[in-house]
Amino acid sequence: MNQSEKAKWIEKMPLLQEIIDKREILWQNPSNGDSASGIAQSGITAADVKDASDRLKRFASYIEKVFPETIAANGIIESPIISIPKMKQALAAKYNSDIPGELLLKQDNALPISGSIKARGGIYEVLKHAETLALEHGLIKLDEDYAKFAEPEFRNLFAKHKIAVGSTGNLGLSIGIMSAKLGFNVTVHMSADAKLWKKELLREKGVTVVEYADDYSKAVEEGRRQAEADPLCHFVDDENSLDLFLGYAVAGERVASQLKEQGIMVNKEHPLYVYLPCGVGGGPGGVAFGLKLQFGDNVHCFFAEPTHSPCMTIGMMTGLHDKVSVADFGLDNQTAADGLAVGTPSAFVGKKMEPLLEGCYTIADETMFELLTMIADTEEIRLEPSALAGMTGPIQTIRHDMPQADSSSATHLVWATGGSMVPENEMNIYYGIGKGNNGK
Ligand SMILES: *Cc1c(COP(=O)(O)O)cnc(C)c1O
Repeated sequence: MNQSEKAKWIEKMPLLQEIIDKREILWQNPSNGDSASGIAQSGITAADVKDASDRLKRFASYIEKVFPETIAANGIIESPIISIPKMKQALAAKYNSDIPGELLLKQDNALPISGSIKARGGIYEVLKHAETLALEHGLIKLDEDYAKFAEPEFRNLFAKHKIAVGSTGNLGLSIGIMSAKLGFNVTVHMSADAKLWKKELLREKGVTVVEYADDYSKAVEEGRRQAEADPLCHFVDDENSLDLFLGYAVAGERVASQLKEQGIMVNKEHPLYVYLPCGVGGGPGGVAFGLKLQFGDNVHCFFAEPTHSPCMTIGMMTGLHDKVSVADFGLDNQTAADGLAVGTPSAFVGKKMEPLLEGCYTIADETMFELLTMIADTEEIRLEPSALAGMTGPIQTIRHDMPQADSSSATHLVWATGGSMVPENEMNIYYGIGKGNNGK
């Protein structure tokens, strides 16, 4: 994008100037509309999501067998939803704002196996690929017990096949851990900024890690190129994968049953606001889609992005999607929020979200760290910086007078996307950064 094009966009959308200035903004999506027609336009159906959900149920006996931490949940990879009243109080005090509704936390930081939202889509895509191969080779039938996937004949088959992914970290962890467990030959292409502990953990599990001096998109591009040249290699495409999207979307039915169990109503009088940290868009997009299937117009979904990397915000505002990057507006894409340091959004996701998303907002790294320390102090919950991006959502929607956001009958669900895999020393550093910012 040249300077005059940029100037025209800013003139047309003055909010872009605030984005360039790295202010914490909220953008309301003017294309957000009727949920049913938005879903119909997407080309993805409730049956597609149910198919993904059924597949995860078929694999539950295998997951339970090879990941004993999932025994209590019978092999279903899910995280709790909890109320965080002390955090709500501290948050309200910090922003000098009342939050009359309920504040809930979706604890994907505690998802088993890989400790982040990527355990939804990433693991699902690997399982689906394994199932496809096993069916093709006549090793399994749909109605058999999938615990068989742990047997040597399956591992021998998968050892002849490769899986590859480009990742800044968490997707690599999910794909790597699951693929290696099944016996695949798995390669994770990582950017230079990926954390050392993630690379080490993957190598320990037998995953091949290839490092690139460039950023994330370069790692993805190179991974894709190598995989395309090899017919036995399945490349997990973070920007365009329908399977990833469907794996995330299964969260919708899970949330619906969890809220029901907890006696939390979602209807016209009791809106549900959901705040989802967004990188390339697949995770939050899939989850939002699944929630729309369950709650229709009564759920309002927002994507949260770092002020230095608001790629989905810019992509959706301009409608340019993957044809625009944060660099086009002079932003450096530097953030401590792993998984959110993405310069160009997924057009596949952005287009599907056009009629379904309420809006996007941004958050400064400093704020994420402050809130990281705050939730550790108030609720004793340790999250990684990205996972805090959703936390200013209630403040933002209330300040911007979103419908009933300030009502005591509203529920605000903050999606905490990761944290439990972060080593303690690393977490202590994060905590310290947030402490230093306090009292500013
Ligand atoms: C990947 C990730 C996200 C965002 O998911 P995308 O699919 O990249 O948009 C958010 N939080 C964490 C911790 C992540 O790892």
